[in-house]
Amino acid sequence: MTVASHAGPSRLVVVSNRVALPEQTATGGLASAIGAALQERGGLWFGWSGEVARQTASEVHRQQDGRVEYATIDLSRRDHDDFYDGFANRTLWPLLHYRPDLVDYNRKHLAGYLRVNNLFADQLMSLIGPHDLVWVNDYHLIPLAALLRERGVGNRIGFFLHTPLPAAGLLIALPRHGELLETLASYDLIGLHTPRDRRALEEYFLYEAGATMRHDGRLHTRGGRSFRAEAFPIGIDTRQVAAEGNRADEHEEIHQLRQSLEGRALIIGVDRLDYSKGLPERFHAYARLLERSPALHRKVTFLQIAPPSRGGVPEYRQIRRELERSAGHINGLYAAPDWVPIRYVNNSFPHALLSGYYRTARVGLVTPLRDGMNLVAKEYVASQDPEDPGVLVLSRFAGAAQELTEALLVNPADTEEVAEALERALTMPLPERRERWRRMMDVLEKQDVTAWRNAFLQRLAG
Ligand code: UDP
Repeated sequence: MTVASHAGPSRLVVVSNRVALPEQTATGGLASAIGAALQERGGLWFGWSGEVARQTASEVHRQQDGRVEYATIDLSRRDHDDFYDGFANRTLWPLLHYRPDLVDYNRKHLAGYLRVNNLFADQLMSLIGPHDLVWVNDYHLIPLAALLRERGVGNRIGFFLHTPLPAAGLLIALPRHGELLETLASYDLIGLHTPRDRRALEEYFLYEAGATMRHDGRLHTRGGRSFRAEAFPIGIDTRQVAAEGNRADEHEEIHQLRQSLEGRALIIGVDRLDYSKGLPERFHAYARLLERSPALHRKVTFLQIAPPSRGGVPEYRQIRRELERSAGHINGLYAAPDWVPIRYVNNSFPHALLSGYYRTARVGLVTPLRDGMNLVAKEYVASQDPEDPGVLVLSRFAGAAQELTEALLVNPADTEEVAEALERALTMPLPERRERWRRMMDVLEKQDVTAWRNAFLQRLAG
């Protein structure tokens, strides 16, 4: 039986841990792509309000904006700590980013994760109409479809994983992995960023969960469920980012940055402060560049923008301290009275300003140890001046490397290789820069965020 309070035509129901409410319009490409899909079809966006209340509220906050309804719930401190800081960010995040050494597993956190997913399912089931298409996002909500199915929801439900998915040999390090990961079979469609991630999912189901592959490519489980897994590499709003880059001159901040460079070439990195982003390794590679190329001293500046995130998790506080030390050390070694080699900034910036910063930089340095996609890499390319574009130095382990093959691809753990790529980027002749940029831009124009969500939703609608 499908329980429904909304019996109208098919709407899109998006579920994600955080919801971009209409008053928070300054959000990124993904939020606006989902918002646009919801406005187009009419729909509902459901998730956590971002508020921590004294107790988990049974009340759903609802608001309407055009054809879209927003429904959010508050979490209690205990639920927040166990579900979000705990199992999502201290267990699943490191596991999914190939860091079993950082996985902190305990049953209390798992119980909190399941408690919040049950809460989502309880609240959501009464909001879903019988013909609605349900789209669940990310690792916070892996078991949600199974919990909805238990409650009689028979709708088509899709899941998109915004992180990488490691190989089965690593996934099985998670205690009781089967109980969690096999619930993915309750979805009709699972979207991942790259073919490598899709293969990892198939491998897990085939070799660890006893599933079989049908001729039509669907996975069939022992429990009798069948579902499809496919790669849908997420894009950015390419036109918008290019337009922002083009309007860089309108911002006083961009003039100030340019002036402060005094003709030096800028290398830029923009990352949340997260151990998956390879920031200590990146700082070492830049130090190595300065060590091996004295000719570049005073000719180059590295700006690393790194807004803090997840301050409730100890590893994030630790990496912050490590980077402060490393930046101080490099500047101490190489700085001159009129030159600071690294500018390390712990703030976040609005998107339009970032596009201007990217456009000012001769090199975009994007070297995560692992990343689902990495939108910064794509934004860097899209915001360049077509007449005089910069060069992207990109980790092979970012999902974006599978599409942006004209970037200078590096292994972030190979300090020497990254330093060499930086030198090559800084000295690359204009025709080669243009050629590489054009090819990458072609990909970004074709596979933008709208193409991404349309492809996923069309497949889900079946
Ligand atoms: N971003 C931003 N302001 C900042 C830093 C980052 O708006 O100060 C945006 C950035 O433009 C990108 C997103 O945050 O759209 C980061 O996405 P990405 O896939 O690179 O990494 P994530 O943080 O999701 O791991």
